[in-house]
Amino acid sequence: MAEIRLHNLAHSYNRRPSGAEDYAILEMNHVWEQGGAYALLGPSGCGKTTLLNIISGLLTPSQGEVLFDTKVVNDLPPERRNIAQVFQFPVVYDTMTVYDNLAFPLRNQGQPASKVDSRVREIAEVLDLQALLQRKARNLTADEKQKVSMGRGLVRDDVSAILFDEPLTVIDPHLKWKLRRKLKQIHEQFNLTMIYVTHDQLEASTFADKIAVMHAGQIVQFGTPRELFERPRHTFVGFFIGSPGMNLIEVRAEAGGVGFADVNLPLLPGVLRRLPTLSGKRLHVGIRPEFVQVCAEPREGMLGAEVEHLADLGTYKILTFLLAGQRLKARLAEEDPAPTGRVWVSFPGQWLMLYADDLLVEGEE
Ligand code: ATP
Repeated sequence: MAEIRLHNLAHSYNRRPSGAEDYAILEMNHVWEQGGAYALLGPSGCGKTTLLNIISGLLTPSQGEVLFDTKVVNDLPPERRNIAQVFQFPVVYDTMTVYDNLAFPLRNQGQPASKVDSRVREIAEVLDLQALLQRKARNLTADEKQKVSMGRGLVRDDVSAILFDEPLTVIDPHLKWKLRRKLKQIHEQFNLTMIYVTHDQLEASTFADKIAVMHAGQIVQFGTPRELFERPRHTFVGFFIGSPGMNLIEVRAEAGGVGFADVNLPLLPGVLRRLPTLSGKRLHVGIRPEFVQVCAEPREGMLGAEVEHLADLGTYKILTFLLAGQRLKARLAEEDPAPTGRVWVSFPGQWLMLYADDLLVEGEE
């Protein structure tokens, strides 16, 4: 298997095609390339687990196809898909030793004992489980059990993709970093496609080269952590990625740009040229708090705003201010003086995104 391809995929648990909200997955087309380290990131209930279960074969989609390379696998049972799945809670046999747990999938396949032994020892070494091989699984800590669970997926040499469904949920926070680094190492060593489901953007960014952001049953953007931060292609990505998320303001089209209340915001020429094509659509501008410029003194082209709140987060500060009735945020460096009362703000054109019906308006060349 070289790649996992989703074609017109949709899934409804109640099979009533009576409206979008019935669908856990909505008209999805996507390609996961062989060997990629991917994260599937989105809030609770957006359809992440449903999607993983469809890829692994635990669930049959109501519509569309899952292809491994060019082969449709909808009717292939999970055990014949060359895919391993690691769940939130470790799946291990408590009464068996770690060794027997790791050996289980290989013995099931009828592999010879010598092959089982060498593979189990190889995987135990990768996961730092050598010293625990003879221990009963019930005597392991939660992170050791989860490593065994991962090992049971990795041990099969016919596996070409591993799906992780929030695998670090039960792990102590101080061990999470270690285990995430281990997963990265495994990815490099084994050339496996890995899809890692999480609702935590930090976890997604530290594991994945590319992140698929899911919202309401759809992948709304697929890109590097940097692309998601700098050019969110959907308002949801702007809002969901970042801490705090992007400032989003509903605006109307005006001469030279867009506006709200008595504020006019000039747009870059390429985006401005697109404005006449957007009539009838809901318009928003978005700007990340990191890109808002703030001054204590009035300056040419800056807008007057009222300080509402300043949160000092140790290494940076988050300023909440009111601009013409809109509550917005700016991120300030720790060494910046704490503003009070009135401030002046501006939004640099290259960081001001325009959205029409929630989708990013790309500027004309
Ligand atoms: P979480 O992060 O909370 O696990 P998720 O993003 O993985 O959420 P899913 O578990 O895939 O989301 O759920 C997507 C939608 O499908 C939700 O509205 C959920 O209530 C619904 N759903 C999930 N499983 C079932 C089921 N077995 N029967 C009916 N509806 C379901």
